[in-house]
Amino acid sequence: MSLELSKKAVAVKPSSTLAITAKAKELRAQGKDVVGFGAGEPDFNTPDNICNAAITAIQDGFTKYTPASGINDLKEAVSKKFKELNHLDYGIDQIVISNGGKHSLTNIFTALINPGDEVIIPAPFWLSYPEIVKLAGGVPVIITTTKEQGYKLTAEELEKAVNEKTKAVIINTPNNPTGMLYTEEELRAIADVVVKKDIYVVADEMYEQLVYGEQKHISIASLGKDIYDRTITCSGLAKSYSMTGWRIGYTGSSKEIAKAMGSVQSHQTSNPNSIAQKAAVEALNGPQDSVEKMHAEFDKRRQYIYKRICEMPLVSAIEPKGAFYIFVDASEVIGKKYHTQTLDSVEQMAEILINDYNTAVVPCADFGFDKHIRLSYAISIEQIEKGLDRMQQFLEELK
Ligand SMILES: *Cc1c(COP(=O)(O)O)cnc(C)c1O
Repeated sequence: MSLELSKKAVAVKPSSTLAITAKAKELRAQGKDVVGFGAGEPDFNTPDNICNAAITAIQDGFTKYTPASGINDLKEAVSKKFKELNHLDYGIDQIVISNGGKHSLTNIFTALINPGDEVIIPAPFWLSYPEIVKLAGGVPVIITTTKEQGYKLTAEELEKAVNEKTKAVIINTPNNPTGMLYTEEELRAIADVVVKKDIYVVADEMYEQLVYGEQKHISIASLGKDIYDRTITCSGLAKSYSMTGWRIGYTGSSKEIAKAMGSVQSHQTSNPNSIAQKAAVEALNGPQDSVEKMHAEFDKRRQYIYKRICEMPLVSAIEPKGAFYIFVDASEVIGKKYHTQTLDSVEQMAEILINDYNTAVVPCADFGFDKHIRLSYAISIEQIEKGLDRMQQFLEELK
């Protein structure tokens, strides 16, 4: 007998974004006036019509097990959304409802991966991808993108990285942490490589409704039959409807993959919460005016935060076009002096900001980029202004 734990489990890195948020909370509890740019969730309440649908579900006794892969009402609502927003035809037997987008990704990789299969992940990436892939028995292969390319994977880079072990590539648009959107042209070039090399695309489109300015969100699966057949499209309600705590995500895929994911889910978690599913039906089918209000507020904050970052010394950013983050290049901060201390990493910068300036930012080493920080603008414009004033003060202090 051995008391050793699972090597896979022990190797999992705890989420560093949650750690920053926890630290900010702790300082706040001590009475400190902390500005938290760490938030990975909208600061708005879930809209009333959605909450009321949940209350009605409870009062109606809709509190029992549902089919493991979700109720038909919700699959139909998701199918309609896929058609209208994404120009994608997924019938209800191609849709699996799960306990959040993160769970959908877990289902996807559990369904796709055999031990040792490789998954290509463009960096910067959402920090959970490599861990989810490893837990499913796969091997993450990181491709570091460039600022010049808007931190987006190019078709050439993808083609070079594919080998006989490659199972899939993850494309996250709009992107967390960069706020970038892939253009149709970029996606077409990637799709050509995917089809030629016969691999899968996992398209994480969690922020599809949080897109600002002229550029439109494009779903890679909508670009033709061959790429449609090789794509698993993943989204959810957490970010667009401010429903992070409700835990509803979903996928559109081939029937075969949907069946495999549904079976996996039936043993691991059974159905997603019955009440949250009813709330999700209302979110998708009900009035969308609250989504538009949240969107407009995010856009205001986005423009403000981008303008302020551009005016600061030693840092720069590309204008974010989606999600609610700005990805700040802080490489010039490294080597500068803060009082008597020479800064040798952005982690140090983040530590000084939280300890001396009561301002929490996320250093992005766990996102695959160790000279950048991520600021979330899912906080009020007053908070953003206060936090940026402090950050500017810190930067002006550096010698
Ligand atoms: C938040 C997020 C998800 C998953 O969200 P859930 O809360 O699990 O629904 C997936 N992908 C990205 C890039 C995210 O930022």
